[in-house]
Amino acid sequence: MDRLLREEGTRKVAGLQAEKQQAFVLLKPESVVRGLIGEIITRFERKGLTLAAAKLVRLTDDQAHQLYSIHSTKPFFQDLISHITSSPVFLMVWEGPNVIAITRNMVGATNPMNAAPGSIRGDFAVNVTPNAIHASDSIENAKRELSIFFTPAEICSYVKPTEQQFLLK
Ligand code: UDP
Ligand code: MG
Repeated sequence: MDRLLREEGTRKVAGLQAEKQQAFVLLKPESVVRGLIGEIITRFERKGLTLAAAKLVRLTDDQAHQLYSIHSTKPFFQDLISHITSSPVFLMVWEGPNVIAITRNMVGATNPMNAAPGSIRGDFAVNVTPNAIHASDSIENAKRELSIFFTPAEICSYVKPTEQQFLLK
């Protein structure tokens, strides 16, 4: 995350246009069963991001291990896998300039105790394992994560005229 923000800073100083990125976002089981899918999608839509793919699935054990492979040695790993496979999750790909940093900011700190009010975790979560949502933390991880769940044909590229006119200049 820090590296990402530094990269964004460098780009700004260099005066370059931020490139369009894709972020993989997963609404965890508690967000689905609490009926928060629409609320969270609305936040990203109103921000000006573009939804490129979405589906409701129950993760297999293998998919959950792939998604969280980076945490396989952590003490919370087994609880995390049990939780994420416990009931359906909602998978999405969001597109936009700087979408990785933007979605991470909107998601908030990992522990909801430290997540700012107004962020998704700040508003909808109290515990660290069921913290409402996952969002990719780098371009590289986004590519890896979305390829676990989506084929290239399932990711739609299109332009929202309002975003093009007002937000993407
Ligand atoms: N997690 C946990 N206990 C911890 C740290 C993390 O249960 O002490 C869970 C939490 O659900 C988190 C996920 O593991 O969202 C992945 O952890 P990471 O550090 O990548 O946080 P994130 O990128 O989701 O903010
Ligand atoms: Mg993470």
